[in-house]
Amino acid sequence: QPNLTAQYLQQITELMDGFKASKALFTASKLCVFDLLQSRPGLDATQVAQEIKASLKGTECLLQACVSLGLLKTCKKPVYENTDLATRFLVSGSPFALHGYIQHCNDIVWPLFSHLESAVREGTNQHEKAFGKKSKDIFQDTYYNSQEVKLRFMNAMHSIARVTGKAVASAFDLSSYKTACDLGGCTGAMAYEFTKAHPGLSVTVFDLPAVVEMSEHFQPLHTDNRVSFVAGDFFKDELPKADLYILARILHDWPDEKVHILLSKIADACTTGCGLLLSEIFLDEDRRGPSRGLLQALSMSEGKQRSATEYSLLLKSHGFITAHVTHTDNLLDAMLCIKV
Ligand code: SAM
Repeated sequence: QPNLTAQYLQQITELMDGFKASKALFTASKLCVFDLLQSRPGLDATQVAQEIKASLKGTECLLQACVSLGLLKTCKKPVYENTDLATRFLVSGSPFALHGYIQHCNDIVWPLFSHLESAVREGTNQHEKAFGKKSKDIFQDTYYNSQEVKLRFMNAMHSIARVTGKAVASAFDLSSYKTACDLGGCTGAMAYEFTKAHPGLSVTVFDLPAVVEMSEHFQPLHTDNRVSFVAGDFFKDELPKADLYILARILHDWPDEKVHILLSKIADACTTGCGLLLSEIFLDEDRRGPSRGLLQALSMSEGKQRSATEYSLLLKSHGFITAHVTHTDNLLDAMLCIKV
C-alpha cells in the first residue's frame, strides 16, 4: 500500500517537525519580522538582518522557513512581504494580533513542554523545573510576581480575548440581561465585546487587584462607560451583583473542588432566572478531540479540560440548567445556563 505509506510518512513528519515550525513562528514574532515587513514590505534578507540586528545567514534561514510555512511571501528577487494570514494575526498593531499570545507560548508554554516527560511521569505541574520556583496558585505565584511577566500574561489573554470575544459575546440572545459580571475578566477585552454586541448591557470586570490596577493600559481608544472594573479574589471576596455571570477560560484552570467553591459563590449571588455564560474549549464527549484542548491539558497545573456534559453536570449541582451550547468556529465554545 504505497499511498498509505506516503500519507503516514507525511503525517508523522508533520508531527515530528511541528515544534520546529512553532519555534520559527515564535522567533520571527519575537524579532518583530512581521511588524517590520508590514511597515516596509519588499525588504531583502540583508536589510531585514540589519533591522532585526541578526546574522545574515540566520535571517535568510528564518525568512525562507517562514515562506515555507505560509507566513511570508517572496518573489524571484528575493524580497519578502507578509502573507494575508501574517497581516491579520501576526502584526502587533492589528485588531486580531496574536503577538501577545505567541510570546506567552514562547516564554512560558515552551519551557513547560520541554519538561513534558516529567509532567507525564509525575502528573504534576513543572513550574519549579521550568522556572526555578514552586507555584501553588499559578496566577498569584508565577504570572503576577513581576511586572514584566504580568504584562506579558495579560497581553496574551488580551490577544486571545480580542480574537474570540465577538463570537462568544454574540453566541446567544442576551437581551433580557442588563448587568453582567465577567469573573476573571482580565484586561476587559471580552467585556468590551459584550457591550459592543449588546447595547443594553453593562459589564463589571472582576479580577485580582494586580490585574485591575493595569486595566487602563488595555483600554480601547473609543471606549464606553458601560465597562467597569472591581478588584477582588473570586474564591474569597463578595462577588459584584449582576444578572448574568461570565466565566470565560476560567474553570479549566481549576480542579473540581475549587470549581465547586466558585460556582457555589456565584449561585449564592444569583436569583432565579440569572444567567451564567461559560466559555471554554469543550472536549468531544468521547474525548478524542479537539487536539488543541487535549494538548493544552498536557501543560496544565491544577486544572483540567472538560466536555460540555461535564461542565453541565458541575453547573447543575449548583442549580444552573444548561439552556444552550454552541461550538463556535472560533477558538472557544460557549454554554448559557440559567439559575432555577
Ligand atoms: N476571562 C479572560 C479571557 O477569557 O480572556 C481571562 C482568562 S485567564 C485564563 C484567567 C483569569 O482569571 C486571569 O485574568 C486571572 O487574573 C483571573 N483569576 C485567577 N485567579 C483569580 C481569583 N482568585 N480571583 C479573581 N480572578 C482570578
